[in-house]
Amino acid sequence: MVPSLIQRNDDPPDEPDPACEVCCFEAGSCICPPCEYCGERGVLACYETKPGFRLSITKAQAIARIRYRAHLYREAAEREGQYAEWLDSTPGGEISPHIEDYPTTI
Ligand SMILES: [Zn+2]
Ligand SMILES: [Zn+2]
Repeated sequence: MVPSLIQRNDDPPDEPDPACEVCCFEAGSCICPPCEYCGERGVLACYETKPGFRLSITKAQAIARIRYRAHLYREAAEREGQYAEWLDSTPGGEISPHIEDYPTTI
């Protein structure tokens, strides 16, 4: 079975099976190899600059992270679209007068 990507930011605080912070898969489906230094899987600190060592990510991890980011973009796009529809259909909907609050770039 292909593991599914799950949300992180909107997870409830007691989420029992959080996403891996490196590959972004659910904890039980983590694709991260064990760290050659500490033996743990999916520890972000092992991939960041550290005195002594820094793990390189695998191609599979890179692809998983790109897909997760694409998933976040799709969610953000959905929210933006819903907000625009809500404003358009709500006569009293308040907007900010500042153009920078409505960027057209991402
Ligand atoms: Zn992982
Ligand atoms: Zn490690």
